Amino acid sequence: MLRISVTLLLCAATFARADYMDHFVLREDVGPHKAPYLGDAQLVVIPIEVAGFPPIDLAALQHFFSPDDPNGFVKYYEAASLGRYHPRVTVAPKVSYATCPLPAAQFPTCAVARGDINAFTAGMDMMRDVIKKSDQAGFDFAPYDVNGRKGTADGWIDGVMLLTNVPFGGIAFPFGFFNRGDNLNGSNSGPLVVDGIKIGHFAIAGENDQFVMVHEFGHVLGLTDLYDESGKYDGLYLSVMGTWGYDPNIPLPDAETRFRLRWANWHQVQGRQRVVIHPAETTGEVYRLGTGDEYFLVENRGPGDAFDRSLPERGLAVFHVDRTVKLGGQEGQFVERILDCVNCDPWHPYIRLLQADGLFEIEHSGRFGRGDLFGAGSFLRPDPRAVAVSELNAVNSSNLYSGAVSGLKLDDVRLLADGSIEVTLDAPETGQCDEKLCAEGEGCAPVTCGEPEKKTGCSVGEGLWPAFGLLLLEQGLRRRKQRVLRRP
Ligand SMILES: [Zn+2]
Repeated sequence: MLRISVTLLLCAATFARADYMDHFVLREDVGPHKAPYLGDAQLVVIPIEVAGFPPIDLAALQHFFSPDDPNGFVKYYEAASLGRYHPRVTVAPKVSYATCPLPAAQFPTCAVARGDINAFTAGMDMMRDVIKKSDQAGFDFAPYDVNGRKGTADGWIDGVMLLTNVPFGGIAFPFGFFNRGDNLNGSNSGPLVVDGIKIGHFAIAGENDQFVMVHEFGHVLGLTDLYDESGKYDGLYLSVMGTWGYDPNIPLPDAETRFRLRWANWHQVQGRQRVVIHPAETTGEVYRLGTGDEYFLVENRGPGDAFDRSLPERGLAVFHVDRTVKLGGQEGQFVERILDCVNCDPWHPYIRLLQADGLFEIEHSGRFGRGDLFGAGSFLRPDPRAVAVSELNAVNSSNLYSGAVSGLKLDDVRLLADGSIEVTLDAPETGQCDEKLCAEGEGCAPVTCGEPEKKTGCSVGEGLWPAFGLLLLEQGLRRRKQRVLRRP
């Protein structure tokens, strides 16, 4: 079974912008399958310069990967994660090649075309050679493992990026999964091992394109591709893993991606709530309507100072998420996702961006633009006919893909002067507050669920997350005590 999968990959998608990650179907595989995505991390970027191609601008590279560039890699991941993920990137000494490191017979111009079968083995040989050369030149990989599943060094490198100047798009590559050759430590399989540190996967970008690296590194963190590899439409807008064209206006991750990375401030809606949603770039707020595998996420997106700069206006981005679409956590399943990508069906992808204007331009191979975010006067309501959105029924609604009327609602949108957005959200009155992404830590549980009790003081709303409940209880007791004291 595994062999078949590998063969399929060889035939279909080698060196396409492929991924191997699961968007957190599994959360416990940091190390062998994912780089740590919370806390401090020490990353390495290795410039690979081949003579005869435009030289790498090392000063520009240093700047982009330093915390000083307000629009750079580090600031991007810090902003996207609300500071929960702190990468620091070391630009390793350049590895130089006098000639193309790929076999001349197969790659006469050193260019690697998408889907080139020959590139598979040759590319792995090159990755191995670059690490070997860096190691032999005295670069010590040991300091680049400070983080892991438990937040401490785990024997796996925190992240390696290879940036080349040859014509080559980009890829994140699970080297350890495919390696059947030298691991630089006496074995003939699995991850590379240098200075006692395992390297299981690489993010690679060509043509000196640092912006591509921001996307490829997203794969290393565990994210799958959200653009449409099949070409039916563009795929998911408003996402670093989606349709972004690698221009300097880096989009934030979409709400589902931040939610799964535990980089969101997650508010679970229960009952009817009038809420103020603050800009995603500063607060990370995500409102979730519905539970289980299928639900809607709402966040406030607009042109920010550093990121999301290409957005035409501010409004609520509404995503319909269905986790049952082609996601799987088994090792090697990323191969199936490459052949049949999660966002390739415009009418029922894993993550669909709803458009307030109801014109379905994105699904019809058009582009995201003005009127697509939910602004003043827009709404999302159930469709009582109990049909799902589809090509034959291009009508906005909060119905599920089964056609079932979810009862979820978004209405009375008001844009406030400070960039916040007021909206009324509706979800079922009960049973919305019990889900968690993980047992403990930031982003594991909703920061609110349902409207906090305002008037009764001492009573605790059902299902409020425990700490918040305790806080209210404490305040209630205090208030009661004050009332007692004040009694004449
Ligand atoms: Zn990708």
